[in-house]
Amino acid sequence: MNTIAVAKGDGIGPEIMEAVLSIFDAAKVPLGYEFVDMGKWVFDKGYSNGMTPEAQQSIESLGVLFKGPMETPKGKGVKSVNVTARKTWNTYANKRTFQTLHGVDTVFSKAGIPIDITIVRENIEDTYGGIEHMLTHDVALSRRFITRPGSMQVIRYAFEMARKKGTKRITCGHKANIMKLTDGLFLEVFYEVAKDYPELKADDVIVDDLCMKLVSRPDLFDVVVLTNLQGDIVSDLCAGLVGGLGFAPSANIGDHISIFEAVHGTAPDIAGKNIANPTALLLSGIGMLRHLGLMQSAAMIENALLYTLESGVHTGDFGDRSTPSLNTTSFAAAIIANFGKKPAHNPREILADQPPTPTHFKLEKNPMLESVEAFQESIVGVDMFIESNLQPVAVAEKCLQHTSDLFKLVTISNRGTQVWPKGSVFTNLVNQYRCRFESIGDSPVTQTDILELYRRLMQDFKICSTELLNMWGDKKAYSLAQGQ
Ligand code: NAD
Repeated sequence: MNTIAVAKGDGIGPEIMEAVLSIFDAAKVPLGYEFVDMGKWVFDKGYSNGMTPEAQQSIESLGVLFKGPMETPKGKGVKSVNVTARKTWNTYANKRTFQTLHGVDTVFSKAGIPIDITIVRENIEDTYGGIEHMLTHDVALSRRFITRPGSMQVIRYAFEMARKKGTKRITCGHKANIMKLTDGLFLEVFYEVAKDYPELKADDVIVDDLCMKLVSRPDLFDVVVLTNLQGDIVSDLCAGLVGGLGFAPSANIGDHISIFEAVHGTAPDIAGKNIANPTALLLSGIGMLRHLGLMQSAAMIENALLYTLESGVHTGDFGDRSTPSLNTTSFAAAIIANFGKKPAHNPREILADQPPTPTHFKLEKNPMLESVEAFQESIVGVDMFIESNLQPVAVAEKCLQHTSDLFKLVTISNRGTQVWPKGSVFTNLVNQYRCRFESIGDSPVTQTDILELYRRLMQDFKICSTELLNMWGDKKAYSLAQGQ
């Protein structure tokens, strides 16, 4: 029998977790539980990552964590327990499934438009690294990491999952028209992986267009894979399409450890009242049972849930306000009473149990997560990010005094828009410029040459940061300034 780690969480966490586990117990799900200490209350006891060492050990040896929502401790520099868990265990794919639930009224359910969308969101990279600096008092910079192996992991997971689910279409949402290198890399990897799945229709949509299409024709989408921040926003949009966060399950999938949880938070306003809706956590639990290969239990419980919702039974946060709502415990009991019944809409087929999902996506050969060897790499310049209140022409004059026979000043930009040698008087300026120096004749330079340029330039400016300009063969490994 499988054993999983269970963390009840904070706020409404214990109430909804007990309701879900009562349903699992009544269904005789062949699953053992090891309860672990994790959450804000553990943080308050002095454990800075929100979990005891014993909890961490249990989760790492069992491989599956079923968790209730956890409160993020307040205060600067304090990390969310939820985000820490996802990052510590490299759960790189966040999977959220959104389906029409009959009995949960939405614009689309009323119009008879069925929704069955799975969003797979990259869960580790992007701006979520939280690498941010104030370059000047007026200018904040966030670093956005999109990596080839990081993208490869999540995109391959999305394709595998789509194949297993038997979907027809898989879509990449992105903004590669603007972020040509970061989102461009994600999109490039998407089409590389797509070649291995010819039975799936793989296409891409720019993320703003995707949002418009999702709210007008959600029935046209099956599986959508996105980078972290865009996926965060688009998945909440999809939750709204099917009735809100109370119906949004979530799975954080990694090679070794996976975390199943609801999308919503600890709902402090209703905690301890036994009125919270346990549906999102139950749907997350059902997804976990499928992940563990417990297909029969998953389908039986899901059919009972769908039947219960169809029959108009509801908690206080949704459903027909003219009929009385049930509390959390009674709602769970109503689902248990409906075991063995089949809903009129989308009944789940009772499939035979399967072996648990294998963890074969690990990049065995490459523990450093390095997928492409550097080739013919050379440094051909540097971007110097400087602080200055001067006008662009004055900045250029000073820079030009410091270029030697190795470097030429090619462009100066402000917030990414070129302001020298050409620009517009209508461009607003802030007190921070990027001055791009390229080697004369594109001949390779060394880091020592760059240091020498740095040393000369700092006589006139405070240099906030620098980026090398690399060439890979004849390909520029950097973007051009807007207007360059
Ligand atoms: P929230 O999701 O807790 O609450 C938003 C609103 O939705 C509230 O009115 C709440 O009563 C209602 N609600 C949420 N879940 C419900 C349910 N199951 N049944 C009925 N009503 C429900 O969001 P918040 O107030 O912004 O966050 C509260 C805390 O939860 C914060 O500390 C936040 O950091 C944390 N949080 C944790 C997670 C997680 O553990 N994955 C996710 C989101 C927020």
